[in-house]
Amino acid sequence: VTVYVPRDAAALSMGAEAVADAIRREATRRGASLRLVRNGSRGLLWLEPLVEVTTPKGRVAYGPVAAEDVPSLFDAGFLQGDAHPLGHGPTEDIDYLKHQERLTFARCGIIDPLSIEDYRAHGGGGGLDQALTMTPADVIATVTDSGLRGRGGAGFPTGLKWKTVLEAEAPQKYVCCNADEGDSGTFADRMIMEGDPFLLIEGMTICALAVGATRGYVYIRSEYPHAIDTFRQAVARAYEAGWLGDAIHGHPKTFHLEVRVGGGAYICGEETSMLESIEGKRGVVRVKPPVPAIEGLFGRPTVINNVLTLTSVPVILARGAAFYRDYGMGRSRGTQPFQLAGNIRRGGLVEKAFGVSLSDLIYRFGGGSATGRPIRAVQVGGPLGSYIPPDQFGMAKDYETFAAHGAMVGHGGIVVFDDGVDMIVQARFALEFCAEESCGKCTPCRIGAVRGVEVMDRIAAGIDREANISLLKDLCAVMADGSLCAMGGLTPQPVLSALLHFPDDFHRQPDARAAE
Ligand code: SF4
Repeated sequence: VTVYVPRDAAALSMGAEAVADAIRREATRRGASLRLVRNGSRGLLWLEPLVEVTTPKGRVAYGPVAAEDVPSLFDAGFLQGDAHPLGHGPTEDIDYLKHQERLTFARCGIIDPLSIEDYRAHGGGGGLDQALTMTPADVIATVTDSGLRGRGGAGFPTGLKWKTVLEAEAPQKYVCCNADEGDSGTFADRMIMEGDPFLLIEGMTICALAVGATRGYVYIRSEYPHAIDTFRQAVARAYEAGWLGDAIHGHPKTFHLEVRVGGGAYICGEETSMLESIEGKRGVVRVKPPVPAIEGLFGRPTVINNVLTLTSVPVILARGAAFYRDYGMGRSRGTQPFQLAGNIRRGGLVEKAFGVSLSDLIYRFGGGSATGRPIRAVQVGGPLGSYIPPDQFGMAKDYETFAAHGAMVGHGGIVVFDDGVDMIVQARFALEFCAEESCGKCTPCRIGAVRGVEVMDRIAAGIDREANISLLKDLCAVMADGSLCAMGGLTPQPVLSALLHFPDDFHRQPDARAAE
């Protein structure tokens, strides 16, 4: 019997280590024989630690399990998959999982993250096998045909970026993976690096072969110690297995991969700032052009892709462009791992084809708010994403529909707020966040955010309210138009969307606010 207890950071934060110890102890005490595997998370975070057992009817799930539940699980016969109050039956039949379309997360939570054999046994490596039989131009044509767009935020066509690097003449090229997952409510990159790290290594290797890069860097945020540790171990094993190095899979191809730990600033997730940080400098945004595909890391042509973009590539190579393109809508092809967070009953990861509605995600999958109160707003796309009111929850999630509503898909994070939220506080937070995290290179962002917080405080205090709201709008226009990068350029989004959709919060009397 194999028992799975996740060692994903979310599960660990809920006591998974103690649960694993308790299972080992109880098994020894009872003379029960079992194999304990520390897997990644399935993404059903409200059930973590989610313990699974292999049975003739497939894997059976129990959760959330606490260490003190373990003796009763043994008493109930959980090793045979028998019923227990914490039981959920076969894992794959849990509604939350059953209705997803998992391409990128197909193996996450299923395999032992550090076993290349397990990775292979579950279909891993097939994309690279295929890429090794193709010319670089054909690999890029396949990625282009799949319709894959950057999952880091901007949605730029991945094939086009790769083609630019392939065609650039240079003695050295690089692939950099942006794993500085700093957006509020996002954890998909972390889950992959902790639960299926070879997938990222495979995706980066395919990219390197396609563009002619021989060196790669994964820039992981410093706040992710478990992801850093797991991914580093995976890289070491990939070298041992000949998946990285000077003879990839026995072919005369070179690709060396290094992990770099992030500088601890939100702006280091901006691509050019990340390059500065990898080069050992302070994370300050570079002026574009030149774009990194022409002059990137150490001045050389560089592909910069997010974890979710690179981990979408293996399945595209393994199953073909048409397979991937069949998912999605309009110009948004394939699937997006959405992350449900904030005030939500069933927080976790939902991978669905583009086109799923926000309402499906937050009610059907998420089960509504955790407090049971009506949902008043959701913020999509990180701390600089727009606030969306309930009358827009029906809109389909794809790049174009969102852009038409002044919002962005971003990294797929969805943060939910119930009717207790004060939108003026949220709008102020966006400006305060920008003031804290600005790299300081350009004036609209560096000074604008600080002045914005002051203006917001005057509005909240009811001082000269209409004039200050008008000033706030002007300031937002300057920041949006005049900022060098998306940090200052997008900060107005949450502010103006809060003002547009929730104007009452900006006009409430200070004493009414204090009373609440
Ligand atoms: Fe730096 Fe802000 Fe200007 Fe971006 S917008 S370059 S973060 S000061």
